[in-house]
Amino acid sequence: MAGKKVLIVYAHQDPGSFNAALKKAAVEELSKQGCLVTVSDLYAMDFEPRATRKDFTGPLSDPEHFNYGLEVPRAYQQKALSRDITAEQEKVRDADLVIFQFPLYWYSLPAILKGWMDRVLCQGFAFDFPGFFESGFLKGKRAVLSITTGGSADMYSKTGISGDIRCYLWPIQHGTLHFCGFHVLAPQISFAPGYASQEERAGLVAAWARRLAAIWEEAPIDCTAAWYFGQ
Ligand SMILES: Cc1cc2nc3c(=O)[nH]c(=O)nc-3n(C[C@H](O)[C@H](O)[C@H](O)COP(=O)(O)OP(=O)(O)OC[C@H]3O[C@@H](n4cnc5c(N)ncnc54)[C@H](O)[C@@H]3O)c2cc1C
Repeated sequence: MAGKKVLIVYAHQDPGSFNAALKKAAVEELSKQGCLVTVSDLYAMDFEPRATRKDFTGPLSDPEHFNYGLEVPRAYQQKALSRDITAEQEKVRDADLVIFQFPLYWYSLPAILKGWMDRVLCQGFAFDFPGFFESGFLKGKRAVLSITTGGSADMYSKTGISGDIRCYLWPIQHGTLHFCGFHVLAPQISFAPGYASQEERAGLVAAWARRLAAIWEEAPIDCTAAWYFGQ
């Protein structure tokens, strides 16, 4: 798969973290395959997660009643979005595969990564009306979530206290990535590294690297309600 382009959007504060180890394993494995790997290290970049007026470099269409969602597609067409947004959009546009590497925060994304999705995957760039789900503008690209948790696999099973972790992935995988046209691959979930032995943690990192060795052959999941909420 030499020449394929991969973007890793990485959201952890600490270079010594388990998330950092998974990110490093991905960079190493994919580079070994000859892929061109780019990492957006959101905390190191001090990435701005808030969607505000500062995202627009030109005049607003209605300065009296600021409506971010209405301003965005016009600003995108007029090339009047702030440089931090367009730089990330260029990376996404280039990528064949986007990996999101993050710890689960409150059954969801860390705020800095949610903000990346809010600002970067904007109307006009990632989707439009029409132009969503199967005709989303990022169709043809693959996306995969690589998530770490505090809770164990048992806790996130159908009968566990948190319920099936797939339910929490619906807004991220389906409502965001699939909506924008991505082909979503099965998530990589590294459960509870903080409670695992050193050997078990090394096994989780090795499993991720092994999966990446064949990631280009994987078929996407059937990203419909049945995958998330089926029996
Ligand atoms: C605000 C907030 C909300 C949260 N909400 C939730 C929630 O809703 N649900 C939930 O389940 N969890 C939740 N958590 C917990 C969080 O998801 C976990 O703490 C996180 O996923 C663990 O990943 P980490 O990279 O931070 O682990 P770390 O603590 O960095 O690492 C775990 C261990 O792995 C070791 N390690 C590092 N590199 C390697 C390596 N190469 N090989 C082997 N071991 C290594 C580290 O030294 C450490 O001992 C929340 C945490 C926060 C802060």
